[in-house]
Amino acid sequence: MTQTTVTETTLTDLTRRLADVDAEIARLVDDEGRRQHDSIRLIASENYVSQAVMDATASVLTNKYSEGYPGRRYYEGQQVIDQVETVAIERAKALFGVEHANVQTYSGSPANLAVYMALASPGDTVMGMALPAGGHLTHGWNVSATGKWFRAVQYGVRREDGRVDLDEVRELALAERPKLIFCGGTAIPRTIEFAGFAEIAAEAGAVLVADIAHIAGLVAGGAHPTPVGHAEVISTTTHKTLRGPRGAMLMSTAEHAKALDRAVFPGLQGGPHNHTTAAIAVALGEAATADFQRYAHQIVANAKELAAALVERGFDLVTGGTDNHLILVDLTSKGVGGKPAAQALDRAAIELNYNSVPFDPRKPFDPSGIRIGTPAVTTRGLTEEHMPQIAAWIDQVVAVAESGDDTVIDRVRAEVGEFVKPFPIPGWPTP
Ligand SMILES: *Cc1c(COP(=O)(O)O)cnc(C)c1O
Repeated sequence: MTQTTVTETTLTDLTRRLADVDAEIARLVDDEGRRQHDSIRLIASENYVSQAVMDATASVLTNKYSEGYPGRRYYEGQQVIDQVETVAIERAKALFGVEHANVQTYSGSPANLAVYMALASPGDTVMGMALPAGGHLTHGWNVSATGKWFRAVQYGVRREDGRVDLDEVRELALAERPKLIFCGGTAIPRTIEFAGFAEIAAEAGAVLVADIAHIAGLVAGGAHPTPVGHAEVISTTTHKTLRGPRGAMLMSTAEHAKALDRAVFPGLQGGPHNHTTAAIAVALGEAATADFQRYAHQIVANAKELAAALVERGFDLVTGGTDNHLILVDLTSKGVGGKPAAQALDRAAIELNYNSVPFDPRKPFDPSGIRIGTPAVTTRGLTEEHMPQIAAWIDQVVAVAESGDDTVIDRVRAEVGEFVKPFPIPGWPTP
């Protein structure tokens, strides 16, 4: 494991150098590294990036301004930056098989805002999945700029099985004639039916936007069908299953290339974060390997195994299971809210988030469910054989979440601490 040696040296250097200048922040970085190492990370949108991705992020590229695009910049000194951005673009195009890629968007939300700016005007009708059904804020939810500045209509899922009802989507699309239809979301445990959405978008005269923020790594690794050939525009973050730095990309057919690029710059942003662009290029390089394909399939295998183990313990899963990296649990039958459950699990060093479930009778800040994801534990090297143990710990802690029984929580925390030791994370030394 040469990785361990590199990691150790880097962390020692980083901590020492940082502590020389700012002991307070150095200590906090250290504390967070230890916290990340000592817990089981089941937050579906999180991951552990490689040392190489971290190195690119921490590079001198952060010092450079480069408004514009390769070959067309507003600042001098772009001899190297142009090459970095071109490599990232070409890798994105090759990996996903798209005609155009923009790697400058700062994160997933601004990337989506750029899609609106490129393809719609304020007041236009747009359509996306409702947040409580599993959509994202930026798909037109009312508190988001996308819900305030556009006339957003929202589709949901069927009450019976928690799945998207394409007949409802079609009906709504034909009645409302939106400019854009977003598919994808943040809490969808099932395969997204890109072909079905594309058919509806064509009938309604809308542009289909596939937001694959959560599943981009699964798509790249061949563990989820691709939206390419169905959605004209694809939006994704780079830091979830794709396992790159915090950032985002827009991909599209050649037809929409100019409009999207103009919307990102100068429409919404100034200078791109070149250190992030380099790290995205590194992550895309990693995602093109056979190792990454194995990782993507292992994420799904782990999620299916964990889902089965939870069902065996009487947990009620939205849609009854999972096709991807994500499990949505309705805790109503366990008699505990999502928030106290998530908080008790955090105290037991099992990290996840409380989440609304479809048709949730409780408030978004105190909902009925928890969301579980397997990308981070898969990166760490966990496989199917480890999932029943994780389900057992979740079960034990959820059972005492309301009473807050410290003996159970402390015991699980100690067991988790021992359990994770053989699974190092980049950026943190193995003891
Ligand atoms: C995470 C996510 C986003 C937003 O990404 P940020 O980087 O947090 O702004 C957008 N869409 C979907 C579907 C997401 O899951």
